[in-house]
Amino acid sequence: MAYDFHTHTFLSDGELLPAELIRRAIVNGYEAMAITDHASAANMEWLIDAIRRDCDLAADKWGFTVLPGVELTHCPANSIADLAARAKRAGAAIVVVHGETVVEPVEPGTNRAAMESPDVDILAHPGFITLEEARIAASRGAFLEITCRKGHSLTNGHVAKIAGKAGASLLVNTDTHSPSDLLNDTFARTVALGAGLSEKEVERTLRVNPKTLLSRIRPTGG
Ligand SMILES: [Zn+2]
Ligand SMILES: [Zn+2]
Repeated sequence: MAYDFHTHTFLSDGELLPAELIRRAIVNGYEAMAITDHASAANMEWLIDAIRRDCDLAADKWGFTVLPGVELTHCPANSIADLAARAKRAGAAIVVVHGETVVEPVEPGTNRAAMESPDVDILAHPGFITLEEARIAASRGAFLEITCRKGHSLTNGHVAKIAGKAGASLLVNTDTHSPSDLLNDTFARTVALGAGLSEKEVERTLRVNPKTLLSRIRPTGG
């Protein structure tokens, strides 16, 4: 049993067609997932429309829950609220923001803008997130990400510690670009424990928080 709310297909810079990514996730034992290709003002509407077609197909023919979404990536920080709202209007069920990872020049202020945007569901790889930003996440039930992805994962320990202090909820996501990035339950546990979470926090992160997120979202968006 595994959940993963941050993945990419070749509609942005991943390797697989959405349908193949979904098929491989099902075989891997996924319970539910999201497809969140990189988006900005440039590609948002057609991207969401394309992802949704395969999500609807998977729901219809395989009975599998897959949320169509976007990852707002390197967008101006002060455009995030508007772009996130635009993504939801275009049919995204979930909006992830590409946070201030330490391995890319993400605009400072992106974490804060994401956490203050009501339409943002998950802040991915938030790097050196501040306690104040994590408190905003906690206050409105946005999720912070513990990532399996190389480089971005350098600050997982910091993110786990700050989330704990702020009472913010965590999710483990893969940021899959290749089929070999897809996780299983054992690896998700390893990453969560490696970030310094207790057994109890691991349970909450892997079992409870995904269900909380799913209960808030209508799988096919609009
Ligand atoms: Zn990417
Ligand atoms: Zn990503």
